[in-house]
Amino acid sequence: MGKPVEAIQPDTDMNALILVINCGSSSIKFSLADPAESRHVLSGMAENLGQEAVLSWKGIAKDSRDIGDADHTAALLEVVNLLHELGLTCSGVGHRVVHGGEHFSGSCLVDEESMEALRAHQHLAPLHNPVNILGIEAAQEAFPGIPQVMVFDTSFHQSMPERAYLYPIPYELYEEHRIRRYGFHGTSHRYVAAEGARLLGKSPEELCLVTAHLGNGCSAAAVKHGVSVDTTMGLTPLEGLVMGTRSGDVDPSLHQYLCDTLGMTLADVTGMLNKKSGLLGLSGSSNDMRQLLELAENGDKRAALAVEVFCYRLAKSIAGLVVGLGHLDAVIFTGGIGENSLPVRKRVLQLLEFLGLKEDPDLNAVHGREHQGRITASENPLAMVVNTDEEMVIARDTAANLPDLS
Ligand code: AMP
Repeated sequence: MGKPVEAIQPDTDMNALILVINCGSSSIKFSLADPAESRHVLSGMAENLGQEAVLSWKGIAKDSRDIGDADHTAALLEVVNLLHELGLTCSGVGHRVVHGGEHFSGSCLVDEESMEALRAHQHLAPLHNPVNILGIEAAQEAFPGIPQVMVFDTSFHQSMPERAYLYPIPYELYEEHRIRRYGFHGTSHRYVAAEGARLLGKSPEELCLVTAHLGNGCSAAAVKHGVSVDTTMGLTPLEGLVMGTRSGDVDPSLHQYLCDTLGMTLADVTGMLNKKSGLLGLSGSSNDMRQLLELAENGDKRAALAVEVFCYRLAKSIAGLVVGLGHLDAVIFTGGIGENSLPVRKRVLQLLEFLGLKEDPDLNAVHGREHQGRITASENPLAMVVNTDEEMVIARDTAANLPDLS
């Protein structure tokens, strides 16, 4: 165990704070947010759970400490201790949950009924939902009596019409097994669509937007009058755009072909498409866009090819999503790549010039993570960078779903 943190004087005027939890298989990310002021008071991470786990945090205080072989529950108890030591409390806990299926079209309070429904949907995201459930159960132990809310990656896209969410496969597979497109990154698409509208001095209801969330995972969405009408990810987060290690769209016959010709198993191919494809697979060197751009700059042809395929497929998808909107007011770039990578935004806008999107190189150079805003000379339509804040969406939804205890 590390040294105790220095107690700070809590701000007596502080609003009700929400603890946002994003639980992974061996890590927990957390953020203590003030949704009324849209600010993060403290954020951190417990990593390497079950082995030599470390808890680190930054914000009103910054430090880290060893937490031994803490599991999820023990790590959350360490977070409780940390908040206590810092003189902080939370009035609710918000959980990021990956898949809510068709059952959850919005965020909801954790209770027996919602937990039962969530457990019934585990099969839709076998890698993510069980660990999200584990996180909720651990938080119930660590924060007894504090209301908890689940916020889904999928629920923003529940507004998609049938024409966008149905796969052209036998309809019974949808009727009987709910096999359909769901879409992900909903909290990010929702946040940047609302924030983009705010920056433009409009309400989301007035706008037709394509939002491009480009991080390690990438997806784009068509957001018409504030609701999602289409998106690039599907039943799972493998469909759609080229990503760090995920392929995005490939021929559905690829599995069969690779099994027949190379003797690969279904699991081999699925693993390859998720972990060894995308930017990493094409370049053979990295899944990190920053590194690939540097390599390409220094003459690495495979790195340049990976970046070009990424940009080409992204531009093609953005253009396709405009069909769902019927009109385009703005394209919004967000996520690690969208906010930081000027050359990617430049290339995508070049490919989309036929839509009337014309890059302003000076604006593109100044608008990024440090300074969000418009990056095109054109205003109608325009392209802009908006910094995403998925944790703030979770904090706001949690605050909105807290039971009225008055
Ligand atoms: P995220 O998942 O949103 O954290 O985004 C991760 C991706 O953002 C990785 O591919 C990083 O290479 C990329 N990224 C972060 N900073 C930069 C940068 N300055 N230039 C290009 N890509 C970046």
